[in-house]
Amino acid sequence: MKNLMLCFLIPLASFAGNEVNPDAIELAPLPMPVEFTGDMDNPVAFDASTTVAVDCPDEAAVEWLSRHFAEWYGKDAPKVVAGATNLPLAEGGGLGTGRPAVKEEAYAVVADASGVRIAARTLAGVRWAAYSLRQLAIAKRGTMKTQGRLLPALSISDSPHLAFRAVHLCWFPEVRPQQMERAIRLAALLKFNYAIIEPWGMYASEKHPWWHWPNPTMTKAEVRRLAAIGRDLGITLIPQVNVYGHGTSSRTRSLKHSVLDIAPEYEPLFEPGGWNWCISNPETQRVLRELIAEMHDDFGRPPFFHLGCDEAQPPTCPECRKTPYAELVCRHIAGLAEFVKQRGARAMIWHDMLLERGDPRWKGYVHHGTKTTAALADTLPKDVIICDWQYSYGNMKETRKDWPTMAYFKEKGFPVAGCPWMNYNAMKPMADYIAKIGGFGFIETTWHRLCGKDWADMYRYGASAAWGTDVRGTGKYGATPSFDTEFANVLRLVGHDMKATDYLDAGLINYQIPPAWWMDN
Ligand SMILES: [Zn+2]
Repeated sequence: MKNLMLCFLIPLASFAGNEVNPDAIELAPLPMPVEFTGDMDNPVAFDASTTVAVDCPDEAAVEWLSRHFAEWYGKDAPKVVAGATNLPLAEGGGLGTGRPAVKEEAYAVVADASGVRIAARTLAGVRWAAYSLRQLAIAKRGTMKTQGRLLPALSISDSPHLAFRAVHLCWFPEVRPQQMERAIRLAALLKFNYAIIEPWGMYASEKHPWWHWPNPTMTKAEVRRLAAIGRDLGITLIPQVNVYGHGTSSRTRSLKHSVLDIAPEYEPLFEPGGWNWCISNPETQRVLRELIAEMHDDFGRPPFFHLGCDEAQPPTCPECRKTPYAELVCRHIAGLAEFVKQRGARAMIWHDMLLERGDPRWKGYVHHGTKTTAALADTLPKDVIICDWQYSYGNMKETRKDWPTMAYFKEKGFPVAGCPWMNYNAMKPMADYIAKIGGFGFIETTWHRLCGKDWADMYRYGASAAWGTDVRGTGKYGATPSFDTEFANVLRLVGHDMKATDYLDAGLINYQIPPAWWMDN
């Protein structure tokens, strides 16, 4: 106990090591906590004989933890009691790290021979503590079937780097709805606290059923079910409607259009070609507001709503041409942002139309606007959250540390979120940069790559960046085969929670080999 507490004060991850077997590996949770010590040579019982003391002002914490232990561990569930733990909680972003304060979600955990103790200021902190413990708990050894679990002796003091930590998930027609649920649950276990859901023609609107493809899987019942799961797990689901460009609800290269390919009578709602909505049409304005309201209600009226607005094209139709472009677009976005605000939410938009294509200041950064749309950075309401996506197209191996575009939006007075994709080297520096400039948050985008090792890496690197730590095996943590132990563990827990029985819902991919391989061709 005394030794553990001494280790606890050292602001680093450390592992006890094993003299008999120096090759032995210690488990660690994902993302790596700010301070962590673990020692599997001194395992601690984690079963029905264990008492977990919870030190949290929120009285709901004990009930939440008891209920989830029962769900996860059945008859082997540890007992949960409220009680003082005397564990220090990080005041800011971790003891001695100098990171900005995100103290509401801080947590501390100690597991030793006397039991398990959790301290947190909020239920959110208790959840993150529980997810760390759950990732580290393994079945006791020596039996055929699980009879209780054990933990390494451990101590953790942790707090997130940024308060808003999101994944952006695309509900494509090709993505199984089970995969969407897996992605949401996994994001929660990796301590993301928001998931933005973009429907891609899959939202089953009752008001405007022509907006979606036939047989949509993002039904109202499914959305409400997932939003409720998210609320319980500590991850808030945020809906998205692309209100400007991307009116096709399809990837550009597909040339599909979720409306006009099947219901051409709705042509007046879109600019010729269908990429943009026709924003001068009052019917477009009515439809978009009704879609936003319907989806916002189905999601349980979350505090944010994403309006898209990336990669738009200048107007073509005779009505839109009557108004100066900047005025037309500003009125459109500001009007919808105000509509969202009246519903108790804040609007989010992608950034790229707000930076002029030819502006030398943004060379090497994503910027798709014209001189006219760039003026929106001066005219849009300043409470719209700018989601600045920077992907370093090409080899995705950038190592840059500064994002002048994010500083620009911050200086203009907007809340700004840094949004990486598969540029893994950039994630931690980007989150650090957002923290440094006092930005809004971090959004890990995933697009059509939510499978295989890309999925694992987007989540591992993104979650770690948002918590201010390196991925194990990089940076200060040294080499370790963490990918196929830690990530497999946490991914498998998601399947258990969903009671998955289908081969397709296991692992990182649906098929290990193309399904048509075993055929005569
Ligand atoms: Zn038009």
